[in-house]
Amino acid sequence: MKAKINNTYILLKVGDITEEDTEAIVNAANSTLMGGGGVDGAIHSKGGPAILEECKKIRQTQYPDGLPTGEAVITTGGKLKAKYVIHTVGPICGGKFSEEHRRLLYNSYYNSLKVAKEKGIKTVSFPSISTGAYRCPVYESALTAMRAVIDFIKNENYITQVRFVLFTEDVYSQYAEALKELLNGT
Ligand code: ADP
Repeated sequence: MKAKINNTYILLKVGDITEEDTEAIVNAANSTLMGGGGVDGAIHSKGGPAILEECKKIRQTQYPDGLPTGEAVITTGGKLKAKYVIHTVGPICGGKFSEEHRRLLYNSYYNSLKVAKEKGIKTVSFPSISTGAYRCPVYESALTAMRAVIDFIKNENYITQVRFVLFTEDVYSQYAEALKELLNGT
């Protein structure tokens, strides 16, 4: 599915985000920035050790206590096709979705795009942040993700393409529903 808002394409697809050729891909990291399971593990294993090296430096110099939830930082993409990886920490929902979860997840998407813009990056791929091990409900998370991305596009008019690279058909169809709902409501 594809939609155009101002000068930006939003593209939804099923796939493995480590294969994407956007300038940056976003990692659903944890606050340690030291790697983990799911998409985080896949990005570090395919991108190689250069990513972890930069994450360690960021921890030492900027975030000794870890990256706070909702914030984002950028490193090299190492051996990935994407030149950069933007690491963000989504909320841990544990099956619920409170206003605080919504706010933090919104920040993860919005701040990732802010970091991209600061680096002059115009094409970005996102995974479905927080809907794996962190167990945020997929449809609510998708609505929040789309709202943040659409708000950023309208506020900043900078990014030219945002891809959502969803790992399964089921997650893809919930993101597609969420995007349709928001497009119909505007
Ligand atoms: P979190 O801890 O933020 O919940 P996870 O990595 O556990 O992050 O899961 C987030 C989403 O990423 C899930 O929908 C999961 O299926 C998906 N995912 C896992 N590996 C990949 C990958 N290589 N590319 C895209 N999405 C992936």
